[in-house]
Amino acid sequence: MPGVSVGILEDEIPQARLLAGWLESAGYDVFHSGSGKAFLAEMSEQSPDMLILDWQLPDCEGIDILTELRQSRGFSGPILFATAKNSEEDIIQGLDRGADDYLIKPLRKGELLARLSALWRRTGGDAADRIELGPVSLDMINRQAFVDGEEVKMTPTEFKLAACVFSNAGRLLSREFLLKEVWGVDAELDTRTVDMHMSRVRKLLKIGPNVGYCIKTIYRHGYRLEAL
Ligand code: CA
Repeated sequence: MPGVSVGILEDEIPQARLLAGWLESAGYDVFHSGSGKAFLAEMSEQSPDMLILDWQLPDCEGIDILTELRQSRGFSGPILFATAKNSEEDIIQGLDRGADDYLIKPLRKGELLARLSALWRRTGGDAADRIELGPVSLDMINRQAFVDGEEVKMTPTEFKLAACVFSNAGRLLSREFLLKEVWGVDAELDTRTVDMHMSRVRKLLKIGPNVGYCIKTIYRHGYRLEAL
């Protein structure tokens, strides 16, 4: 996501390097700190758009950093907790204190990137006048689609379907949901209508392994836009 910066708080250096590499490959600007104290100092210098926080740190707990950022420093961007702690109680506490999402380690690249971009959209990070992913760009105001800067002619329905899939990256979308969102009917239409249009969208927007993500067909369920 070009132009979006992410601050990472993670005390295990190999893990931090791995995360930073994944994010940089997806176009994010990244900074990293290995302790709570260093991270807070860095936060006074930089103004990241989003944060990924580890829970267990040498000098403090990530949850206290979260509270400090939300309550004392007024940080309002999306915060994702990434930690080995996996009890329901911990998850609830993290969300209560102001985290927007929660991932249990070990992290997986595709999932992390999908969650981050979903968070960014959900919290109105770019309010989606334009949705961009790899070579595809969707102009939501003029309802035009571009691949590598070249306009692609799509029918209004194909555009709506593409916009729905791209603004829900990482989420499993059932055929029934897509019918309702795009066609506005309660599945009176055959769900094969969705399949037909989806294959057109894939083809028109040249979606495939070479662009780093795909629209995966989930057998008997629907579709999901996934990073590869
Ligand atoms: Ca840790």
